[in-house]
This record gives sequence, C-alpha cells and structure tokens, in this order.
Amino acid sequence: MAAEDACVQTITYVPGYPVTEMAEALGAEISVNEKVALEIALGSSATGRRSMVLVKQLGMNLLADPLVISATHTIGSGIVVLAGDDLGPRGSQAQMDSRYFGLISDLPVMDPADPSALYHSILEAYVLSEKIKAPVIVRATSRLFEISGSSPERRALPPHGIKFDRSIWDLTALGRGQRYQDEAFPLAEDASEVTSLNSLRISGKIGIIASGCPARLAENLDASLLVVGYAYPLPWRLIKNFLHLHDRVIIAEEPGPFLERQLRAIEKVFGRLTGHLPMGPLDIQDLQRALNMDLGMNKASAPKHGKDYERSANKGHKSICDDCPFSSLYKALGKIGAIVTGDAGCSIRAVREPYSSVDLVYGLGSPPSVASGLAGDGRGKGIAVVGDYGFAHSGFQGLINAVWKRRDILMVLIQNGVAAQTGGQEVPDLTKVLEALVPVRFLNFPEGEKDMKNVEKALKDVMAIKGSSAIVARGKCPRSRY
Ligand code: SF4
Repeated sequence: MAAEDACVQTITYVPGYPVTEMAEALGAEISVNEKVALEIALGSSATGRRSMVLVKQLGMNLLADPLVISATHTIGSGIVVLAGDDLGPRGSQAQMDSRYFGLISDLPVMDPADPSALYHSILEAYVLSEKIKAPVIVRATSRLFEISGSSPERRALPPHGIKFDRSIWDLTALGRGQRYQDEAFPLAEDASEVTSLNSLRISGKIGIIASGCPARLAENLDASLLVVGYAYPLPWRLIKNFLHLHDRVIIAEEPGPFLERQLRAIEKVFGRLTGHLPMGPLDIQDLQRALNMDLGMNKASAPKHGKDYERSANKGHKSICDDCPFSSLYKALGKIGAIVTGDAGCSIRAVREPYSSVDLVYGLGSPPSVASGLAGDGRGKGIAVVGDYGFAHSGFQGLINAVWKRRDILMVLIQNGVAAQTGGQEVPDLTKVLEALVPVRFLNFPEGEKDMKNVEKALKDVMAIKGSSAIVARGKCPRSRY
C-alpha cells in the first residue's frame, strides 16, 4: 500500500527471510545481489522515479558501498531501503541490527512499531529522502512482519519526478560532506523530533524508551512510555526531557542495545548493557522483570543462557531434502578428503549428519574465494560448492580472482535453475561464462549420477585437472516453480 501511495516506480530486491514475501507481493524485480539492487534504484531515482530496495539484514553489508556514497553524492527522487532484520535468527546465519547503518552512513533510520507505523514510516521516508536528497532506511524486523493490525488510514503522496542535480559536482568530496552535515542532516534531526510516529505517555517516575516492535510490548505496562519513530538520528530533545522527568529509564529495543549504547553514559538508563534485559528478541515478561528489578543497582543479571545454548540435536535441523536430486553429490563430497566450503543456499544443509560433507559456510557466493584460501593445506584443491544464484550473486568474482591469482580450486556449481532456499526464484544461467573461465564437466542428477562412487570418481578426475576447474551439477529441484 505504501509503495502504491508513494507512487514508487522501481522496486528491486534480493530474496531472503524476512523480506521475500513482501517483495513478491509488491512485484519487485529480483537482482543478482544487493549492491546491484541499490545501484538500479539510484539510477532510477536520478531520472526522477521514486525507488525502493528490499533486502534482508545481511544484505545491508553488500549494499553498504553505494549506500554510504549516496548520502553526500545526492539522489533524484526518493529512495527507501527497507532492511529486514531476522530476529533470532530464524532464516539467516547470523542476527544483525540494521539500525547501525544509520551510524555508518549518517542516513536516517526509521524503526516502525507495527504495520500501520510501517506504512506511515515509508511515506514519511520518501518525503524526507527528497528533502535531504539521500536514501532513507526503514528497518522492519521479522516480528513486525508477523503482526497483523488494522489498516492504516491511507494518504497519497503527489508524484515528484525530481531528477539528479549535477551541480553537486561543483563541490569536492569534502565539500559534499560539509553540505550534507550542514544542510541535509539537520532536516533529518528535525524530522526525528516532530514526526507523528513518536508518542509519549507520562505515568510515574519510571519510564521506558522504546524503538520498533518492543514499543507494543511496553504499551500496557505500569510505566511512562516514549516511543521513538527514528532510531537514527534520535529525537534528543524529547529524550532529554523524558530522562529529566524520570528517576529510572529502561530501553526497550531489539535485537541489540543500539539506543542504549548511545545513552549508556547516563546513570539512570538501564537495559541490556546493565544486565536488566537479556540479549536478542524481547518479550513482555523481560520488560516486566526489568521493571520489578532493583533499578538502583549498577549491574543486574538478566537470565543468561549459561552453557545451555540451543543445539541442533535438540531443536532439529534442515538437511538436504529426502528427494533432492543432488544427494549422491553431497555424499560423495564427504568422501573426497578435501575441505569443502558451501554457501547459504542448499549446501549449508549438508554441514550436519547424515552428510557432514560441507565444512565452511561464510555466506552467499563466498565459496570460490574461501576455497581459494584453502589451497596449500596438503589436501589438494579447496572445493567450493555454490548454487547458481550464489554464483551470480558474488561467487563469480571469487572465481575470476582464483583464475587471475592462480589459486586453484574445484568449483561445483549446483545448477537447479532457482534460488531454492528463498522460495524458488528464477536465476540466470551463467554456464557459458563459466566455460570461458575454466575447464568444465557437466553431470546430470539424478539420472546417471545416482551412484555415489561415480560422482566421487568424477570429483577426483576434475580436481586433478591443472589450474582451477569446475563441475556443473545439473538437476531439477522438486521445489522449483519453473
Ligand atoms: S531445495 Fe531442492 S536443491 Fe535444495 S536440497 Fe531441497 S531438493 Fe535439493
């Protein structure tokens, strides 16, 4: 709704939990990676079209380069970067707090508390983006996507059509930074103070400052409540006044102490850093417990995990699907005796029993580069197992580097034609490009390659080829939509 009411014309995304569903509902265009997704939006904005980019938290790392540059470079029409933070995490390798990109890029970050606030945040983000001539980040957590709420009162933003103003090049890089700090950033600070997304309730001498979904948890607790609509820049005037009115203030946010770190020098502020709240996602009992604690103590001890960390043996884990055409390949990889690096696609499912054939997983597209660093441990080439989306995402550059720097690897490209782990989105076929770089052998799964011994022999044969080499493992994923 917000994208429609803001007349957004270009929407790009990279699939991943928790943004995939929303991106597909918006009819967003998939990109090979997050940097490309933002760069398309920047180009589109420069020509007068409002744009939106949807990525998951870890994807923010990929687009950080153009994001940071865009603040002082300036843009045309508004850009919203919607960052989906996976609390837990449940669908990612690591939990991350995208609000820190405000501090890194100096761009505003809005942190809506519920779906209605998300709608209004996106509209306000476009208005602010066009005022400061820079993208605005809207952070939405997995918890936010799960909340159902009443429909917001809709309003339409007039179409804008602002194009990039190249007079910015009259300024040096230093001058562009000075302009941003003197003219643009103060507009974001003002917006943070006056936004209708802030709310205030005064009740007693203990208060809660909340950002994002924890604001809803704190709604009915017996304490004052200041909800901030912007996580960066913070509404300092409102916060100072709130602190002045209260003896003790708890910071309710998730997953980490982003606001609290900015306020930690103030003795009356309590939260995770003082041990009054646990790390990670919050629940209402956590806040209730903190309110009941002795807030006069300097350091409390919120419940800790001790050594009782969540274990895959107890919780269960996703393995390679029972009907996976590539199961003989994952078994054979475990017999080769080399270190195998996989990515955040299907191959991460082979790290545990019954396969235990993939050893290292440093993220989507990482295998060719990680395998490049494995050579020299006496076990032959490092093996990089990469999905076809991971290869297009960033694995391709890793292979180019391996060939360029003669870091010999065996790359196994799982060519199932889809990004299987994020819902089966279509991916490009880069096998012709691969053949231009290294010798390639094609194996078809499962037909002809059901026998693990045959696959093991093929892996050894291709591994023995001098220089980098590749196997393209072709098969149709039963989960494919195509
Ligand atoms: S999603 Fe498809 S390719 Fe991935 S493990 Fe399952 S069956 Fe195999």
